[in-house]
Amino acid sequence: MRNICLLVLFSLVFTSSAVASIEIALRGEEPVVIDEIYHRDGLIYIPLDDLLSALALDGDWDSINHVYRIQSDRGTAIISPGSHFMRIGERFIPLQEKPRFIDNRLRVTENFVVKNLSSLVSTQLFYRNIDPATPRKGGDDSALDRLFSFMVKKKKPANAATLRAVGLDPGHGGFDTGSIGLNGFKEKDATLAVTLQLQRIVKMNLGVPVYLSRNDDYALSLEDHLQPAAEPDVDAMLLLHAQAAFSPVPSGIYLYIRSDEESKVDGDSLRLATALAKALREDGLTVRDIVTAPLLPLGRGDLPTVLIEMGYLSHEEDSLLLMKEEGQVRLATALFNGLKAFGLEGKGI
Ligand SMILES: [Zn+2]
Repeated sequence: MRNICLLVLFSLVFTSSAVASIEIALRGEEPVVIDEIYHRDGLIYIPLDDLLSALALDGDWDSINHVYRIQSDRGTAIISPGSHFMRIGERFIPLQEKPRFIDNRLRVTENFVVKNLSSLVSTQLFYRNIDPATPRKGGDDSALDRLFSFMVKKKKPANAATLRAVGLDPGHGGFDTGSIGLNGFKEKDATLAVTLQLQRIVKMNLGVPVYLSRNDDYALSLEDHLQPAAEPDVDAMLLLHAQAAFSPVPSGIYLYIRSDEESKVDGDSLRLATALAKALREDGLTVRDIVTAPLLPLGRGDLPTVLIEMGYLSHEEDSLLLMKEEGQVRLATALFNGLKAFGLEGKGI
C-alpha cells in the first residue's frame, strides 16, 4: 500500500482529463474502488448506493417522502437532499454538506463518509481519495515540461559551501485531502504542519530563504507543488507526504528519490536522502528504506529532491507523531538536521 500516495501524483501527470476515484473498506476487508465521482463547488460527490454496497449496508430511496433510508447496525439513518441533518430515531446529526442528486443518483461528500457513514458501521472504516482531479492552472502538460526543463542542470555551484535556500512542498491541500487516517485526520494537515515547523527551524538556524508551494489549506496543481524547485537559489527540495494503509500494521518512514533515464541512482538526491535518513534515525524515528522511483513528480532535473512519506496515519504511534505538534516539531527538527548535514557535506566539493 505504500506507493498509493506516489501513484496519486503519477496519475495526475498522465491523466489528461483526470477522473477521480476513491477507495473504501471495512477493517480487514478488501478495498472497493468507486469511480463515478463528481466534482461540485470544490467538493467531490460519491454515489451513496456504491458506498453502501462497499460496506455491505442496505439503503433505499423513498421517492414519496423524498428521503434515503440507510439500514445500519445503529438503526435506520435517514438523509435527504433538502436537509443538513441525518436522523437516527429521535437524534438529528448535523451534516457538513447536504447530499445532492447529480446525474440521477444521490451523492454524498467525503465529510459524510468520514464523519457520518463511519459512525453507522461497527468496525473501523478506511477511506482514501486515490486520484483527486486537481484543477490545472491554465493547464496543459507543456507547463510541466517548461518547469522541468528549468530544473534540468539546476545544480548547486561547486563552490557553494552550504544551502542557499530550501524548497518545501507540503503534499495535497484543499479538497485534495491525501490519505485519511485514524480519527479522520488528513494527510494535507500533517504535511502543512510539518512544513511550517521546518520552515521556522531553517529560518531560525540557517537564516536562508525557504520557499513553500503552499502555506495554507488550498489545492494546488502539480506544477504549483513543484514551483519552489524553480527558484534559482534552491539547493534542496523536499516533498512531504504521509500515507495510510487498510491495515493498522504498516508503519515507518520511506524516502523516495528519482532514478534517471538509465535507471542509475541520482547521486545528489541519494546523498540528501541518506543525510535525512541518518538524522531521522538519530532521533529514534523508524526509517524503512530509501526507494528509487522513476516518477515525474520528483522532476527530471538534477536538483537534489526527496519525497518523504513521514509515516502512516493508519498506525497508532505514527499518527500521534503526525497529528500532535510535539511530533511535528520532532519530525521537522530531524529533517532540518538532515538538510544541515547535507549542506555541510557540500563543503570543499
Ligand atoms: Zn501524499
